[in-house]
Amino acid sequence: MKTPNKTNTAQPPHNSRRNFARGALAAAALTGVGMFAPRRAQAQPKGAPEVKWRMATSWPTNFPIFEHGALRFAENVAAMSGGRMQIEVDSASKHKAAFDVFDYVREGQFEMGHSCSYYWKGKDASLTTLSAMPFGMNAQEFNAWFWYDGGIELMNAAYARHGMYSYNAGNTGVQMGGWFRKEIRTLADFHGLKMRIPGLAGEVLARIGANPVVIPGGELYTSLERGVIDALEWVGPHMDISMGFQQIAKYYYTGWHEPGTELQYLINREKYDALPEDLRRILQVAMRESSFDMLCESEYRNAETWAQLHRDYPDVQIRSFPREVLDALDRETNAVLDEMVAASPDSAAIIDSQRAFLKKAAAWTAVSRGDFYRVRELTGADLMA
Ligand code: CA
Repeated sequence: MKTPNKTNTAQPPHNSRRNFARGALAAAALTGVGMFAPRRAQAQPKGAPEVKWRMATSWPTNFPIFEHGALRFAENVAAMSGGRMQIEVDSASKHKAAFDVFDYVREGQFEMGHSCSYYWKGKDASLTTLSAMPFGMNAQEFNAWFWYDGGIELMNAAYARHGMYSYNAGNTGVQMGGWFRKEIRTLADFHGLKMRIPGLAGEVLARIGANPVVIPGGELYTSLERGVIDALEWVGPHMDISMGFQQIAKYYYTGWHEPGTELQYLINREKYDALPEDLRRILQVAMRESSFDMLCESEYRNAETWAQLHRDYPDVQIRSFPREVLDALDRETNAVLDEMVAASPDSAAIIDSQRAFLKKAAAWTAVSRGDFYRVRELTGADLMA
């Protein structure tokens, strides 16, 4: 059984080397001037492509960063395949069903999806922590787990049960804890609070008395503005500010629930297995490239927007949740994970592996980056003056 990961792609078959080389030349062209703006006109040869696919995303049209990742991937596939393969990207504004991407791909209506595994709790709870685990791995640690500690194999074993492959689509970096119209001073302030927060974190919030809901990105602003919800979390400064949340909520909390959220590509297995070897390899390289790029873009845009937030919206109050709240969230996160492990061997396979790697990674992170951040705070003033 072939899975779209590094272990199965080292050598394309001999008879596809000519095509692969042609694709590699097209890719090499992208590494020169204009690498980061793939030139669509040059990438498309005359004549119809051999393979035309469609990819459904869970994001509205013109959605920052996420849509860029999906389009960048499709453009690179067209360029690297010399136009032999084209992928049309359909946003949720077009197909109108952000949370149906799983079924679309499973049933073959779309060959691919661009979404997030924690949306599929109702389909298969074991997929939830493939996107994020509260208090868990950051982007760097998550990527290490995926690519070198067997994470991608575990993810594909899980998606195989649904007739799909899955592949990393990019990481948001550390997410902010969300926008609140009222300040959170004690644990009791969460009682009855209606908050948009998906995945495991939503379940954790329910256990401390909140009322978590999941709402597609395109409806968030209106829901908060009209009081349908009291609070929401979305992503980080860049994407949050572009949504305008700062205009309707004053308190912006630091994160705990999504320390490095990984998006996923979903791929229909039957359609993927029917592709020639070289196109499979091109898909994998383009997916991995877009995944790397999304983390870079997220970091860049968040840094830019963070500076802008302080300058343009001085009324926004930055807060961290009180220790009492964090302790309760941590306790309930562990309880939820323990229950998932006990309830399902599929969940246990993923969560046990993630917890084991987190334990090792956190120790190294603390002594390496953790200590360096402390040193930079102490001594970096001159450099940043
Ligand atoms: Ca989020």
